[in-house]
Amino acid sequence: MRQVLHGQIRLMRTIMQLYLVRCNCFFIVFLLLYCWRIDMKYKCRHCNFIHFGSMPDGYICPLCHAGLFDFDLIEEEEKVYNRVETDERCVVRVEEKCRNCGACFKTCEKVLASSDRKVCLGCGQCILTCPFGALIPKYDYLDVLDLIRAHDKKVIAITSPAVRVALGDAFNMDYGTFLEKKMVGALKAVGFDMVFDTSFGADLTSIYEARELDERLDNKKNLPMFSSCCPSWVSYANSYVPLLKKNLSSCKSPIGMIASVLRKYYYKDAIIVAITPCTSKKLEIVSGDADYVLTTSELSNMIRETGLVFEDIKDANFDSFSGSGSGTYFGTSGGVTLSVLKCLYYFRTGNDLSNNEVLVKDKEFYKEYRLKIGRNVIRCASVSTMTNLLKVLLIKDEFDFVEVMNCEGGCIFGGGQVVLPANKKDEIIKARALALKKNMRKGNSFPYKNPLVSELCDKYGDELDGVLHN
Ligand code: SF4
Ligand code: SF4
Ligand code: SF4
Repeated sequence: MRQVLHGQIRLMRTIMQLYLVRCNCFFIVFLLLYCWRIDMKYKCRHCNFIHFGSMPDGYICPLCHAGLFDFDLIEEEEKVYNRVETDERCVVRVEEKCRNCGACFKTCEKVLASSDRKVCLGCGQCILTCPFGALIPKYDYLDVLDLIRAHDKKVIAITSPAVRVALGDAFNMDYGTFLEKKMVGALKAVGFDMVFDTSFGADLTSIYEARELDERLDNKKNLPMFSSCCPSWVSYANSYVPLLKKNLSSCKSPIGMIASVLRKYYYKDAIIVAITPCTSKKLEIVSGDADYVLTTSELSNMIRETGLVFEDIKDANFDSFSGSGSGTYFGTSGGVTLSVLKCLYYFRTGNDLSNNEVLVKDKEFYKEYRLKIGRNVIRCASVSTMTNLLKVLLIKDEFDFVEVMNCEGGCIFGGGQVVLPANKKDEIIKARALALKKNMRKGNSFPYKNPLVSELCDKYGDELDGVLHN
């Protein structure tokens, strides 16, 4: 009896399933037919009446009674989507290439973590996702080439850490290939008189931000302190979270620091050109510290357009002003935090921080750092992208220091890097971060042990404060 009942239930279930499958098929066929029908439009030549769907035999216009052959098929109009207006000091659109696809608009909404678009951050992330290559950094490299060829003034290049792990992408090398010496060689071959390392500026930024944090911790004022070396984040803070302006560090960015030191103490009349992974850094020329800011992709254009064969370029070393491994690690998210903690620890204990003293935890949308110094525990977070930042802001009071980078993974994925397939993003970020991490472990990794930094601080003391703060 039980078996008979089970058999009947199975049979009924099968019938129901078949019925549902049939229903689904009917539904899909109906949907396809419906879509096919309304996608077609015919317009009457005499009265402009529009008929939707296919034309049945013997069709007559219901308004003017024209026949079937008086109707023309209307081609599907090309859809026009929203597109972003960029800050043209950083990113420009090549109109002839733009197909109004709207990809930049979507990217920008993601970047701003908002559909209320108050400002362009100049970050260049839309360059990396434009499928038609219609967005490019504002090109300044031709002006720089003219200055180099004129030989009127010394032209000095200062190079950000993230450029050396991305330049190879323009020349079909593996993602994350570390090309510091090749990059310096290329800049010299292009004609720059001297090449210095912006990681030197990052060492200065670490020291001065750590001092500022030290003071704020003592005074318990304007905490958490937020890093200020990403101009896109600073611009976001000004427009979207103005209440946090007082929490931003007053230190200049690494480019601002090295450029102002070079200009004030070493090369007053030289042209200073910053080579960066970043389009928003082009705004740094407003302060007058650097004269030009070029992106990694502009550097690759320069190399090609001066007729150099990348493989044949000879390696070279920085002329001076090299940075520590920590300074170089600034190029990736978390690099600023680790470097600032190393300096803070040194100021408070007189000792070098060993890696296992910092407890680092990967959280869902940020990285958390805890460091015990004496009786105090210093709590920090590093976060990239504004979407993640908005989540961190909800718990910001748990931290003493928050490092913010606009681009995913930090400057290694800046909008001025060479454009690569969007679906390789994670692989690229990982490879570039790893390359910088490996380099950090080589040689000196403490900013305050950089001999030129110590010399500068000893020589100019308090005067430097005015030069290195905004
Ligand atoms: S993503 Fe590129 S092609 Fe598409 S609308 Fe924006 S600029 Fe134009
Ligand atoms: S540069 Fe950045 S902020 Fe400006 S439009 Fe592009 S994605 Fe948006
Ligand atoms: S994260 Fe770096 S590359 Fe991106 S906008 Fe900020 S400074 Fe520029």
